[in-house]
Amino acid sequence: MLRNDELAAWDRENFFHPSTHLAQHARGETPTRVIQKGKGVFIEDRDGKRMLDAFAGLYCVNVGYGRTEIAEAIAAQAHELAYYHSYVGHGTEASITLSKMVLDRAPSGMSKVYFGLGGSDANETNIKLVWYYNNIRGLPEKKKIISRWRGYHGSGLVSGSLTGLELYHKKFDLPLSPILHTEAPYYFRRADRAMSEADFVADCAAKLEELIEAEGAHTIAAFIGEPVLGTGGIVPPPAGYWDAIQAVLSKHDILLIADEVVTGFGRLGTMFGSDHYGIKPDIITIAKGLTSAYAPLSGSIIGDKVWKVLEQGTDEFGVIGHGWTYSAHPIGAAAGVANLRLLDELNLVANAGEVGPYLTQTMREALGAHPNVGEVRGEGLLTAVEFVKSRDPHEAFDASEKVGMRLSAAMASDGVIARAMPQGDILGYAPPFCLTREEADQIVAATVRAVEQILPR
Ligand code: PLP
Repeated sequence: MLRNDELAAWDRENFFHPSTHLAQHARGETPTRVIQKGKGVFIEDRDGKRMLDAFAGLYCVNVGYGRTEIAEAIAAQAHELAYYHSYVGHGTEASITLSKMVLDRAPSGMSKVYFGLGGSDANETNIKLVWYYNNIRGLPEKKKIISRWRGYHGSGLVSGSLTGLELYHKKFDLPLSPILHTEAPYYFRRADRAMSEADFVADCAAKLEELIEAEGAHTIAAFIGEPVLGTGGIVPPPAGYWDAIQAVLSKHDILLIADEVVTGFGRLGTMFGSDHYGIKPDIITIAKGLTSAYAPLSGSIIGDKVWKVLEQGTDEFGVIGHGWTYSAHPIGAAAGVANLRLLDELNLVANAGEVGPYLTQTMREALGAHPNVGEVRGEGLLTAVEFVKSRDPHEAFDASEKVGMRLSAAMASDGVIARAMPQGDILGYAPPFCLTREEADQIVAATVRAVEQILPR
């Protein structure tokens, strides 16, 4: 067995890590972290250090670590048939079963599911299909996509453009020109502090409509949004936001893509975030919770309206020119089937809907009055604590102070993983759905200790 220092040397020499300070890592200034195993909400590194993973990997290990039912389903599929493609009508029992299971759980009005590998590629698929849709309808100018600042939709060329975070654009020549951004429903960070929540919602809808009218509705194809902003700061929308946005979209014949990569399959305590907020999407992006990340698999759930046009397109122009070698990979599909069964059998969505609000509420009681805590917010099993230099007047910390990163590092050395969200001093929590109240208490206690250490009153 390799020693840890040997592994660390190989790591620095060979491994290009995503979302990492490449130069510091290559120089050995940031640690190599080798994670070895996991069970329930805990992971363990190679030194035997056990940590409560309050972010479920990247909010994806929804059923928790170490589920032998899924491991066995993967192994059985790999033994029987590790791979066959899904082009020209091919499939496996797993991929066909999973497509039915997904549609059975999806909001009403959905017709078919296309499988990809990750959330980024699913959003690339979605935008291609939207363009195809409008070409088939004879509307070749209707191609622009509106996303929100602070939205996160991946880091490919189009998906990275949809993402509304500067880090993902800077020096990459993104966003690409057919992608536009509008205001995020981030009430805590509204420019006008005196504005009421209801007025802010109306303002978000008005800004969207202004953008559509300035560009011309005949040029706008779709709007994409996460039911709850995730990577942009874990921000549930104010009441009425989705109704107001949907009214604008339907008035201008603009499709709605609900990016449910984080919220899909139960994180809000309902199977889909769209159900939770009364969103009626035309396309839904799914990934993470589809397999609880036991294998890479994503999907684009296509609504009836779009599907009809896709069929019409292939009648007119032949086979759809879209597909990847690994679309509907049998091992991913087997993992998906076992994962969705487990979600049902263990009643995990209901647990997320019960323990999630408990976590947010306990966090609010513990930290809500701290002078550097601007807001404790959450929805279902998604919680965030946003830190500020001053609550009144509202003032953020300077980014160079890296308050969020320091808090998350303090928590990690204390054995609990919370994510320092990439833009702003925000700690994010999205634990596996099997979290108990006692484990939620441990998360809150570790957060309080870190806050006392980094931001003493
Ligand atoms: N969409 C949302 C809402 C996400 O949170 C993510 C990833 O965090 C993605 C898309 C991209 O998914 P992936 O990292 O699997 O490409």
